[in-house]
Amino acid sequence: IWTKASMDSFTEGKMETSVRNKQVILRDYVKGFPKESDLMIIEAADAVELKVKAGSKAILVIDSDDPTFAKGDFVWGMVNWEEYSTINPTLTFKIDVSLNVPLSYYTGILGMPGLTAYAGFFEICSPKKGETVFVSAAAGAVGQLVGQFAKLMGCYVVGSAGTKQKVDILLNKFGFDDAFNYKEEPDLDAALKRCLPQGIDIYFENVGGKILDSVLMNMKAYGRIAVCGMISQYHLETNEGIRNLPVLIYKKIKMQGFVTLDFIDRFPKFMEFVIPYIKEGKIIYIEDIVEGFENGPAALVGLVHGQNVGKQVLKIAQE
Ligand code: NAP
Repeated sequence: IWTKASMDSFTEGKMETSVRNKQVILRDYVKGFPKESDLMIIEAADAVELKVKAGSKAILVIDSDDPTFAKGDFVWGMVNWEEYSTINPTLTFKIDVSLNVPLSYYTGILGMPGLTAYAGFFEICSPKKGETVFVSAAAGAVGQLVGQFAKLMGCYVVGSAGTKQKVDILLNKFGFDDAFNYKEEPDLDAALKRCLPQGIDIYFENVGGKILDSVLMNMKAYGRIAVCGMISQYHLETNEGIRNLPVLIYKKIKMQGFVTLDFIDRFPKFMEFVIPYIKEGKIIYIEDIVEGFENGPAALVGLVHGQNVGKQVLKIAQE
């Protein structure tokens, strides 16, 4: 996101005409859990020109030769981990600053994680009022929204998370009906039966592994499982096996994976849906903001160990 501060200094002529770009890159492909030493902060060898060439159609946002983006537009999108990016217009959205929400929201609730929760919950899970919903990694960027969307639909919502602090947030800030700390439950099946004795209609899967196996045994007939992520498996050399998949047959359960980019055309509809709830305070969003470009690698490593509370954001300039 390009901040007003950086644009002001540019327009006031204080900024150089070319800069060395700071980037975070991988030292090598990572096996197992990433460590800070797997990531390097470098200054790219080639200088970035802060003015795009006429006729190039390039977009740097502090400057643009594309008629759909003007110099000074604020945008969100998926870019390299660097200070200055030449952006891809098909994966970049203009920010309507008149909405007057924090710019960081476009990395979370009003960005990819928000659309992930919306598309995964409403399109894959087809929720109905009164149904029971279980969300894993429920205090994270995606999970906190799935839980709140489910409450707005009139569902009974239970979440799991990895610390007492996160469980308290689920219950007291996001309005989950029940929640548990999966790290302190010796028997996940028993925890699910305690919180959802009537069974689960919808499981929003962020975690995989043992939680998925236990959830399968607690699904109701015709239940739906949206497979959004399996973070417990990403850092293993061999994926854990899942033993209870035959339940899908007997209980006629639909289990479907999805990738948010396939739903990118829903973004305007999602904004129409979510903005009024934010303005009315009916949906809240918790962020875990780390400041300073050089603190990004540690934040990323912390995230895979569950240290983030809410959406992990790295702030590199003032709004
Ligand atoms: P997040 O929840 O903000 O952060 C990850 C959280 O996962 C951690 O804070 C941690 O919370 C939990 N976790 C880490 N290791 C775990 C383990 N071994 N077992 C259980 N929980 C573990 O992340 P997010 O951005 O909302 O993403 C959630 C999931 O959605 C991820 O799996 C991600 O890959 C996936 N995703 C998929 C798409 C898509 O297009 N399909 C798009 C976005 C995200 P605890 O303290 O609770 O352990």
